[in-house]
Amino acid sequence: MVAIRYRVRAEELRAQGGALMPVTTKAKMEFVYAMARHSKATLHDCQRLMRYAATLQRIAEAHCNDSKCPYGPHLPDGGCMKQESIQWKVGEICERIDGVLDAIFSNDPRGAVVKLKVADGYTNDMGREGICVPA
Ligand SMILES: [Zn+2]
Repeated sequence: MVAIRYRVRAEELRAQGGALMPVTTKAKMEFVYAMARHSKATLHDCQRLMRYAATLQRIAEAHCNDSKCPYGPHLPDGGCMKQESIQWKVGEICERIDGVLDAIFSNDPRGAVVKLKVADGYTNDMGREGICVPA
């Protein structure tokens, strides 16, 4: 029942051109697995990164659709303070994790909004930039 309701909701969202794909448990598990294999990230680090990525995804969708972004004030370049502060927090987490070199941010909601560049060079995105954080 829950699965069916969830699928219907996801289809509604897609029909509206809103949220793209729902994040599956599989995608989350694959992210945690990749991070465990290619860095010294803890489960807690991964959970925080996914949570921040989800917020960045929501903000990017709001900015992209010109719909109301709940966070203000907005900067002249179209970004917002909330977005900047979350990106800063993600950067801070990444600095602490051994094996993670950098966080790459994209404000395009169609792709991964956060990718992590790891020291061993592993990537799982089309652009070969890093590990995508599911959002
Ligand atoms: Zn905003």
